[in-house]
Amino acid sequence: MPSASDTSLLRDLPQIDEVIHHPFVICFAEMLPQEQLTQAAREAVDGARQAILAGTCTAIDLDAIAQEAGMRALALRKPSLRRVVNASGVVIHTNLGRSVLAPEAREAVDQVMAGYSTLEYNTELRARGSRHNHCERLICALTGAEAAIAVNNNAAAVMMVLTEFAAGRQAVVSRGELVEIGGSFRIPDIMKLSHAQMVEVGTTNKTHAIDYERALTPETGMLLKVHPSNYRMIGFTESVGIDELRGIADGAMADERCHDLLVYEDQGSGAFVKLDCFGAYAEPTVKTSLAAGADLVSFSGDKLLGGPQAGIIVGRKELIDRLKAHPLARALRLDKMTLAALEATLRIYLDPDRVLDDIPTLRMLSEDVDVVRARAEKLRKAVSKALPRGNVSMSVVEEVARAGGGALPMCDIPTACVKVEFERGGAQDCEAFLVSRNEVPIVARISHDAVLLDARTLVDDDEIGLIADGFSAYFAELDREGGDAL
Ligand SMILES: *Cc1c(COP(=O)(O)O)cnc(C)c1O
Repeated sequence: MPSASDTSLLRDLPQIDEVIHHPFVICFAEMLPQEQLTQAAREAVDGARQAILAGTCTAIDLDAIAQEAGMRALALRKPSLRRVVNASGVVIHTNLGRSVLAPEAREAVDQVMAGYSTLEYNTELRARGSRHNHCERLICALTGAEAAIAVNNNAAAVMMVLTEFAAGRQAVVSRGELVEIGGSFRIPDIMKLSHAQMVEVGTTNKTHAIDYERALTPETGMLLKVHPSNYRMIGFTESVGIDELRGIADGAMADERCHDLLVYEDQGSGAFVKLDCFGAYAEPTVKTSLAAGADLVSFSGDKLLGGPQAGIIVGRKELIDRLKAHPLARALRLDKMTLAALEATLRIYLDPDRVLDDIPTLRMLSEDVDVVRARAEKLRKAVSKALPRGNVSMSVVEEVARAGGGALPMCDIPTACVKVEFERGGAQDCEAFLVSRNEVPIVARISHDAVLLDARTLVDDDEIGLIADGFSAYFAELDREGGDAL
């Protein structure tokens, strides 16, 4: 129940019309349609009403409500999905769109978008073609798979595989692999959704071949292996590899304990090349999992592959053909922009010597720290040049970058950052400005009252200028505010 004073505040809330005709709102009347102004005014008044009811508003401020309405109306004009400069040092940053596309992939998207395309048209036969054909041969050539299909993302791929091959049957999975990938993708939930009966085996830290053996029944349809992606267990642990699972499945089918028992690996990050620079921690490649005997392997297109968002399933042709015919394949299919980007990305892999240079994700992960340091030095100079003396002091420091995206979680990637310490303003204040108020948001990190700008995740030298501009804008804003916000 609102108190008496709340009730009187509620009564004093302005009329929508009053807000629309306030100078802070009416100034947009020429730029924006009347309905948008009305809607924005309604939202602003509603916001004030909620604040009164929550007890956080003690007086009606018409100017503030009008200003809020004006901002809301104007926000509709501004793009929401925008470019960001990633100076965080997290290479496959899920919140920032994971992999940056190679120039060839961007060009391919542009070509396909600018006109009509061969999306489902076969120019040889002059007849209807299939969108599945554009990438399949490339994926097979690069992984050694018999067949492949690409869908919306790896979560969709896992869902599709479980639905087609494990619905109404049992899928055996190690307790050490019942992972949550983030963003609400959890193996037990996806099992439920696909009507597979999950059979957990082993313990959190140790699962043995015998645990899988003991779980087998005539109802078992799948041995599922899930790559633990974003975490690792260390110490007293054991898990069962694909080659052993293959042996178990073959044995069980040979003595007729099971029928049509599949070995499926949700590999997550989907490396096509072994990143030797990470030594023993390098993620296994898709090719290795297939060669070890997996019937099906699925992985993301925008993690270690370095392409667009996609989920790719590779494996035996008869199984992939069943997936292609599944109604979910239609529901989860890729659009032409993604297919164009994926195909162009895959084509880069045909030339192994180019891969580490030309796939931005792999370049950022593998680049020599000396090259990163040289870029950091360039960045330091550019920011220093953009700012008058007496604002900041800067140095290039050794730091640690991360792969992100659930890949290589154990790897501390040596990197170089520009460390910015503030003589005016402050690190927190500046970091917030760079993200929320700068024209191109710049994502950095904060450490001990300094802003750290990681040079490893900068896409190109263009971004050095953008960062310098961002710092100039921050100090210009401080000057406007009339002094130090220490
Ligand atoms: C990332 C990941 C997923 C989800 O893939 P998306 O492409 O993000 O849908 C599923 N399983 C594993 C093991 C992963 O690492």
